[in-house]
Amino acid sequence: MRSLVWFRSDLRVADNPALSAAMRDGETVAVFVTCAAQWRAHGVGDNRLAFLLRSLASLCDELMRLRVPIKFLDASRFADVPDVLHRLCVDLGADAVHFNAEYPIDEQRRDDAVRATLLAGGIHVRRHEGGVMLPPGSATTAAGKPYTVYTPFKRRFLERLSPAALELEPDLEPQRALEVASDPVPARIDGVDSSGLAAQWPGGEREASRRLETFVAERIARYAEMRDRPGSDGTSMLSPYLSIGAISARRCYVAALGRGSGREQFRSELVWREFYQHVTAVFPHISRGHAFRREYDDVGWRDDRHALAAWKEGRTGYPLVDAGMRQLMAIGWMHNRVRMVTAMFLTKHLLIDWREGERHFMNVLVDGDFAANNGGWQWSASTGTDAAPYFRIFNPVTQAAKCDPDGAYVKRWVPELASLTGRALFEPWRTPLLAPGYPPPIVDHAYGRKRALATFAEVKR
Ligand SMILES: Cc1cc2nc3c(=O)[nH]c(=O)nc-3n(C[C@H](O)[C@H](O)[C@H](O)COP(=O)(O)OP(=O)(O)OC[C@H]3O[C@@H](n4cnc5c(N)ncnc54)[C@H](O)[C@@H]3O)c2cc1C
Repeated sequence: MRSLVWFRSDLRVADNPALSAAMRDGETVAVFVTCAAQWRAHGVGDNRLAFLLRSLASLCDELMRLRVPIKFLDASRFADVPDVLHRLCVDLGADAVHFNAEYPIDEQRRDDAVRATLLAGGIHVRRHEGGVMLPPGSATTAAGKPYTVYTPFKRRFLERLSPAALELEPDLEPQRALEVASDPVPARIDGVDSSGLAAQWPGGEREASRRLETFVAERIARYAEMRDRPGSDGTSMLSPYLSIGAISARRCYVAALGRGSGREQFRSELVWREFYQHVTAVFPHISRGHAFRREYDDVGWRDDRHALAAWKEGRTGYPLVDAGMRQLMAIGWMHNRVRMVTAMFLTKHLLIDWREGERHFMNVLVDGDFAANNGGWQWSASTGTDAAPYFRIFNPVTQAAKCDPDGAYVKRWVPELASLTGRALFEPWRTPLLAPGYPPPIVDHAYGRKRALATFAEVKR
């Protein structure tokens, strides 16, 4: 028996159900299909593509150790994938294709089309659930309905998360050498090479393991108190690795088992990740650009190019918002608390459509992941599952005072404010002479809040 294992967002050999199953069945060849035009249509940006290339290089090294050759195919669009995969199966004499599921609608349709083409050609298809701890649809209400609120979802999810569900795949032994030669990793995808942000985000599962181990050894105990402090390195910074599948969520969860508020909180965050993956799988309309709560498709968003550009460039005059947007531009990542603050600022204070923000984040984030990004944006815009109620609008000044009391974060990313302290740092417009060159607030907080409340109330009516 010869199988292909088709890698997508599961770029690891450890705890990878599709790879393990293929190798159990017999001779295994790996394949990765680049779909540049499709990814661009999904808004994937250069930072993410560069990280993908580094992660692929590292995957190739790991596969070489297992003597699993890898082939690279180019399909441009998802619609072309069934044929290129079928051709490879025929060329290599493969009897089966294994892959781990992906849940956004275009990915599900691509996989259905691949299945139909391969089955018609007499090739078996096996879909595994390597991206989540429990498959979507397994944590439902008593009536069998999907949850749309996190807390009951989590309760049910934890009931279903048996020790068996947390068992990692056993370590793999190298197979006997095959006569199939590996292809080199593509040097570029759509003009992007692997160098972007390489020092900040090295690729690969070894780096992911190292980050997880360091986090658990040194920081997890204080995670609950430090995770909302963007000026500290209180969180794991594992999101790029989880989103590209260089490490499994299950492995992170298992590493965090045990007592302690930090461990519990970290596990809860992994369940948030799971929640949004499940929501994406069972509510396809969110993959089509709709508000989760369809009535919020009708919010009277403002079309303000000037304000949108100021937000993207970190020139809103609100230090915490600007620090977040500049951190994003500089390292392709932003702290979670600040993602919420900047997202609420765009959708509430500036009353700009959350889809603009979602698109911008996807274009710049190294960890850009449809489910988490859409979930985070719709939460912040009050249009989604378990969303912040529309009348809860973060005040960017009090948020800064709470999360960044000594200003370490703001001073790092907005250097023109580095000499300010105390209240002046959170509200620099009160002492403009001390911060020359820093813009005045783009909108007054109280005014922006009132306008958002009125606009959302209109939809409610
Ligand atoms: C507007 C907005 C957009 C977001 N876009 C993305 C995105 O594109 N990709 C992405 O991975 N996360 C996204 N998040 C979720 C969250 O901000 C990041 O996962 C987190 O900041 C990553 O940092 P970390 O790895 O240090 O997280 P940690 O605090 O160490 O958490 C561990 C892991 O849990 C998961 N996680 C934590 N919080 C969340 C959450 N709220 N939702 C889903 N998963 C979570 C992540 O996989 C994370 O790596 C977004 C949040 C918001 C508010």
